[in-house]
Amino acid sequence: MCKNTKKRASIGYGLKGTSFHGNGVLCTLLGMIMNTDNIVIGAGYAGLATAALLAKQGKDVILLEKHSAIGGCASFFRRMRYTFDVGATTLSGLRPHQPLGRLFQDLNLKPEIMHCDPGMVIHLDDHQIVRHADLDKWIAEAESHFGKKGQRGFWKEIHAIDEKMWNVLHRNPEFPPKSLGDLIKMGSRISNLSALPLLRDLFRPMDVLIEKHGLKSNVLFKKFINEQLLISTQSFSDTAPIVTGAMGLAYPADTYYPIGGITKPAQLLAEYIRTNGGTIILKESVESIDIQNDDSFMVKTTKGNEYQAKHLFNSIPIWNMKNIAKGNAIGNLAEQYVYTFTKAWGAFTAYFAIETEYHPASPYAQIHTTSRIPHCEGDSFFVTWSPKQDSIKAPDGWSTITISTHTEASQWYGLSEEDYARKKEETLTFILSEFNRVFPQVASLEKHYIDAGTPTTFEHYTGRHQGFVGGLPHSVELGLFNLPKNITSIKNYAVIGDTSFPGQGTPAVVMSAMNAVKM
Ligand SMILES: Cc1cc2nc3c(=O)[nH]c(=O)nc-3n(C[C@H](O)[C@H](O)[C@H](O)COP(=O)(O)OP(=O)(O)OC[C@H]3O[C@@H](n4cnc5c(N)ncnc54)[C@H](O)[C@@H]3O)c2cc1C
Repeated sequence: MCKNTKKRASIGYGLKGTSFHGNGVLCTLLGMIMNTDNIVIGAGYAGLATAALLAKQGKDVILLEKHSAIGGCASFFRRMRYTFDVGATTLSGLRPHQPLGRLFQDLNLKPEIMHCDPGMVIHLDDHQIVRHADLDKWIAEAESHFGKKGQRGFWKEIHAIDEKMWNVLHRNPEFPPKSLGDLIKMGSRISNLSALPLLRDLFRPMDVLIEKHGLKSNVLFKKFINEQLLISTQSFSDTAPIVTGAMGLAYPADTYYPIGGITKPAQLLAEYIRTNGGTIILKESVESIDIQNDDSFMVKTTKGNEYQAKHLFNSIPIWNMKNIAKGNAIGNLAEQYVYTFTKAWGAFTAYFAIETEYHPASPYAQIHTTSRIPHCEGDSFFVTWSPKQDSIKAPDGWSTITISTHTEASQWYGLSEEDYARKKEETLTFILSEFNRVFPQVASLEKHYIDAGTPTTFEHYTGRHQGFVGGLPHSVELGLFNLPKNITSIKNYAVIGDTSFPGQGTPAVVMSAMNAVKM
């Protein structure tokens, strides 16, 4: 039952429209005004982590989610006995000083995960590049593909920056500093001195580091780096800042596969929220947010319900906020960022199941294509192949495959039904033929339950404006300092999720939650 929600007044429907579901996760209330201390909007990883951390602190919390399932871009769908991750598939950032590692440790949660070594295999021209977890082994592998020159120095520096950066972020919840007070707090920590040289790497692109190690004219290496950066920072080497680029390039050394899919750790978080007194309300779409005279927030939903709270944690993407918080400080704040971050990537996704005993060396692969993917902007796609250890996603002897790649979102809008279907088919056909080229072991097998998603699909299920997903691209021009800070200048209002600092992927949005609950 929704035990932390105190019914203050009932407008019209009263208990008639109220349904509480046995597992306690889903409560639907019609025409109610609810009072609580904390409202979290959106049950993606950002909202789930925030609500779980608030529940751990013993605080009242209501989590509102527009969809009928939790997870957002890390949700799932089922076809018969097969489960498909809709978007995100890979877990990383699980070491003790990294966001997911800290979160699970703090909440004493133990998701069933499989460490992947190799973390990923990259199929590039005739090369199968194996991202070993061990750094020396990986450097030897990189040298065997890209030549000896520069590899050791480059990868040592990448991993050193990655390690330093996680420590800096862990120590400094004020990051990115937005006021003199923030700077003073950060400056007062002696431990930050060692990180000062990293400052300039926030404003220098990865190309500078590539050049420093004599790799600028190494065409194969540049091709490899650019597509690795695209999946981790949403940018290429000419714009990705060295610091976040390094974090993006280091992540395949430490990837995990969640058994049952990326929804499973999310479900653990939901369970934690529920058992610690929090409430998750599904199918509750926020249509407006107002700031009241007493600085509390009034959140109204499309069902006519009203939620009043002292603190608000919002994971709705910045581009959606114009209409939701029209004319107030929250809307104005979002608008300021929309002006800076005009757009992000969309995703094209493909899903199918195959009956096979064959399993690649890693559940994760990146396939560089022989030519540009139709209606997409990258030259590679990412494949997640459920391993034999996972009998939840697919029954024994079967695997589910999820594929994703970057696409310019706007090209999927304003099309006739026929044109949309044709474009989708062209992209899907190309991706499947490239998949068959790289995996001849399964090329002739029938592919079951084939489906595909475009930015319009993501907008439909997650509400994200124009299907913009993956987070705010990291770039030297816009920089980390420009990202929306989690604890905002508006009293008791925090922004979380991948359109706030630090920007993208499940580790980043969990970090946004950890920063925000310090409000
Ligand atoms: C194809 C693809 C592949 C990816 N691969 C990976 C990966 O392998 N590893 C990784 O770490 N990251 C990956 N990412 C990125 C990662 O999925 C996201 O950065 C992260 O999940 C975003 O979490 P979030 O909570 O900020 O936002 P979302 O996941 O978008 O969650 C926001 C939630 O808010 C809800 N919502 C929106 N509007 C409203 C409203 N008005 N009222 C109530 N609720 C609302 C939505 O329904 C949604 O559930 C991938 C993303 C995509 C699209």
